[in-house]
Amino acid sequence: MYFSVRNLKKSFHKNKLVLKNLSFSMNKGEILSFVGESGSGKSTFLNCISGLENIDSGTIILNEKILNGKGKTVRAQDRRIGHVFQDNPLFPHLTLIKNILFNLKKIDKKNFDEVITVSGLKNLLTRFPHELSGGEKQRACIARAILREPDLLLLDEPFSNLDKHIKKDIVEYVEIVLQKKKITTILVTHDIKNILNISDKILIFKEGVLQQYDSPEKMYCNPSNCYCGKLLGDLNELFINNKKFFIRPEHIKIVDKSNFSIIVEKSIYQGKDFKIKANHQNHEFYFYSTVNYKSSEKLYFKFDNSDLIYFDKDCENYFT
Ligand code: ADP
Ligand code: MG
Repeated sequence: MYFSVRNLKKSFHKNKLVLKNLSFSMNKGEILSFVGESGSGKSTFLNCISGLENIDSGTIILNEKILNGKGKTVRAQDRRIGHVFQDNPLFPHLTLIKNILFNLKKIDKKNFDEVITVSGLKNLLTRFPHELSGGEKQRACIARAILREPDLLLLDEPFSNLDKHIKKDIVEYVEIVLQKKKITTILVTHDIKNILNISDKILIFKEGVLQQYDSPEKMYCNPSNCYCGKLLGDLNELFINNKKFFIRPEHIKIVDKSNFSIIVEKSIYQGKDFKIKANHQNHEFYFYSTVNYKSSEKLYFKFDNSDLIYFDKDCENYFT
């Protein structure tokens, strides 16, 4: 494996592990999104990888080089890892190009032109940071990291301080630049919705414990526990033979008659179709439709049994 983390443990205070025993690995060129709530240890995890924090125990191997393990620790500056933070400091007294090239020993002109062009920074190079928007500054910080051709790129919530419309542009930019440059990347976020499309794999993390590590499709259709399932989108509850199942809104089909009924509460227009909020046995129930159903309308629905999701007792919540 190109990048692997084994049994990583990290605490700041005695007996309180922030990372409890984290193991996973990645192939070269993959984009992994690391998703967890605020305070769950995401930044700590990235800091351990880039060497800004010491770890309690475990092994970190990147590109066949042991960064932590076997009694040794490689210094942060020797790790060939790019680390981009939520609020990236640019030197205020330097132009954009000087900021980007700061301390860069070797410049490959072709690579530079490509990264600057795809980052949309070509016409901004002589500007100072105060003459740039938040999105432009963030693109510059990502470009600065990419130009150093890191073995691994770490992005710590790079979208979270940006306006919604800029966020979309930046997500697209990140997708394009990472695919073009084939850079192995870990993108940390608390908001899974933005990154579903750009991730090869998603790792869901809660209270220091890995909950699931899978492709977005697999995670959406086969969540490993209820926590992961709900994080990815609406889950409708269904009781069949006194057993609780869940089903995604996309898998609901409205029919003339069936054993399953709902009462429409409201239709939410969303451009292409309607998201219908309904009530099924006193639970919120969602599905999509091209029909604008009226509230209080009674409808019947069906589904394929293969689309039902079931969580056994261990998976009713999340893994601790
Ligand atoms: P996230 O990035 O997911 O929001 P963090 O990794 O920043 O979470 O924090 C995880 C936990 O570790 C929090 O409880 C935080 O207070 C604690 N923590 C983070 N950094 C330090 C530090 N340098 N010293 C002590 N506690 C810290
Ligand atoms: Mg953080």
